[in-house]
Amino acid sequence: IQTILLKSRPEGKPSISDFEFVSEESSLTIYQGQILLETAYVSVDPYLRGRMNDAKSYIPPFELNKPIQSGVIAKVIESKNEKFKEGDFVSGMLPWKTKQVANGEGLLKVDPSKAPLSAYLGILGMTGLTAYTGLTQIGKPISGETLIVSGAAGAVGSVVGQIGKILGLTVIGIAGTDEKIDMLKSKFGFDAGINYNTSKDIRAEIAKAAPNGVDIYFDNVGGPISDAVLYNINRFARIVICGAISVYNSKEVPKSISVQPFLVKNSALMQGFIVSNYAEKFPEAMKHLSGWLAEGKLTYTETIVDGFKNIPKAFIDLFEGKNKGKMIVKI
Ligand code: NDP
Repeated sequence: IQTILLKSRPEGKPSISDFEFVSEESSLTIYQGQILLETAYVSVDPYLRGRMNDAKSYIPPFELNKPIQSGVIAKVIESKNEKFKEGDFVSGMLPWKTKQVANGEGLLKVDPSKAPLSAYLGILGMTGLTAYTGLTQIGKPISGETLIVSGAAGAVGSVVGQIGKILGLTVIGIAGTDEKIDMLKSKFGFDAGINYNTSKDIRAEIAKAAPNGVDIYFDNVGGPISDAVLYNINRFARIVICGAISVYNSKEVPKSISVQPFLVKNSALMQGFIVSNYAEKFPEAMKHLSGWLAEGKLTYTETIVDGFKNIPKAFIDLFEGKNKGKMIVKI
């Protein structure tokens, strides 16, 4: 059995040495009410970076020398719990271990005949729910409006843009490579894309791509990209603060423009959120996401990395933009 522990709290960008691998030669015994799980897929997500700091947040920090945990899909290989049988697959927040004993609490059964297992960590999991709830509950889209998405080629961003198209919006995506911009347009139906790494003037490019101004900004990255968007917002714009990956590794307080004048003069709304705020909307979100998937209106892409030993690297690669769509490790 292998486990990955948090060995040290990263300073700035995480490095492989912040993680420790532990192997033990033991067989696991289960008792009444328990199940034995073999890990199949592990989700690596930018928000895990926040849990590596010793700081107060909406979720407690990881403890040093304890296993890191994230969204996991696992196979039940033995069961003494009547709710689960051998061969079932479950999803839940679980420690980074190749095998483990669980009591079933907080685990949901997932059906591999309805969708590939990895999809339950992405479009049919937290990613899809985040995209749907953030866009509909805070973005409050109205057909004909203009939506701009940062981190657009990532897991959440690529779903937000597609939902925007389904709801009749003009959709512009911002991402880090030309290949990603091509994918936004050809695979996900975005109307336009801006490569923030090669753009000489993002603010002007946004103005050009959004001649009617920006009504909704779905922000995954923060920092200077967001500043450039704010110069282009319309009256009553809604700014959905989903994440701020560009500053997760900052050692100092990031400098940014002062946003208040933009919000005041445009009577704009800016709101952060955590997907779990909208738990009561999850059934509606799942109905739409799975329905649109089945109808072919929604699609997704994944970057699947092989092997338990590559989990830390896959996580670190998120901050290098190595992924297209959802980053997942297959065990
Ligand atoms: P992604 O799949 O979007 O992966 C991260 C992407 O971020 C990379 O591929 C990279 O793409 C981009 N990126 C990395 N560093 C920078 C940088 N310095 N500046 C700009 N872009 C950068 O991850 P997710 O879709 O899982 O998450 C997206 C955001 O949503 C994150 O901020 C995450 O924390 C947040 N989130 C929030 C939730 C909530 O409940 N509020 C729930 C889930 C996610 P590129 O090549 O374009 O740079």
